[in-house]
Amino acid sequence: MGTVYAVGFGPGDVKYETLEAREVLSGADVIVGYKTYVDIIRKQYPEKEYLVSGMREEEERCKKAMELAVAGKNVAVISSGDAEIYGMAGLLYELSEKETNFGVQVKTVPGLSAVLSGGAVLGAPVGHDFCVISLSDLLTPWDIIEKRLRAAASGDFVIVLYNPVSHKRVDKFKRACGILEENLPSDIVCGYVRNIGRDGCSSRIFLLHQLKAMADDSEIDMLTTIFVGNSETKMVETPDGPRMVTPRGYGVK
Ligand code: SAH
Repeated sequence: MGTVYAVGFGPGDVKYETLEAREVLSGADVIVGYKTYVDIIRKQYPEKEYLVSGMREEEERCKKAMELAVAGKNVAVISSGDAEIYGMAGLLYELSEKETNFGVQVKTVPGLSAVLSGGAVLGAPVGHDFCVISLSDLLTPWDIIEKRLRAAASGDFVIVLYNPVSHKRVDKFKRACGILEENLPSDIVCGYVRNIGRDGCSSRIFLLHQLKAMADDSEIDMLTTIFVGNSETKMVETPDGPRMVTPRGYGVK
């Protein structure tokens, strides 16, 4: 019986891949993943056997990984960033309970999630309590997403938005911005990072009332992570330009 590893390989650049992820990927008999992710990993491990699948085929992909493990292979199922955060780890554990997969061990190999790699680009936006909300309603009903946005805003959390906007969901993104605007001051400091650890990485620090319009000119897309500050978040000037900082409360004057 093989093991299935749920591996997060970080935002893209090999320098953000942990040593454990490297060890597991080098030792795996088969690497399983979504095409875009396999394209990134294949450059590093060209000799490996790969099982590639498309978007929205996650369940099929994970079932195949389980079958390979039942047949005795060690399998790495890859997610970008961290494997738990909107990744494949949870689904693999759920599938491991099925009778046909009895005895397959699932192990999670953590990775650097976009909240942390993107946060580092902006400075220190998540220096205090924060929450991460995905705006994708493929697997989560939209009313729950709205409820969580309201709750996060009323709790004065720093809010990190994953899966912010696709071509089909511009309206929903605007609704999400509307909810934030209703519940937060319009001059809350925000930032985004696009293509973290990949070619064309870009970022910007701005104010909440500017966010809504950014979906229209495609300034933000599905490879963007958005940071909405809390009431204390500020811009700090540095020789390299402004940074987004959420103070922890040291009281620097
Ligand atoms: N497991 C991943 C998240 C997958 S959900 C993680 O922990 O980072 C996909 C969303 O994550 C994207 O829509 C985007 O919001 C964010 N994301 C993932 N990789 C990114 C990158 N390289 N640059 C910017 N955002 C990224």
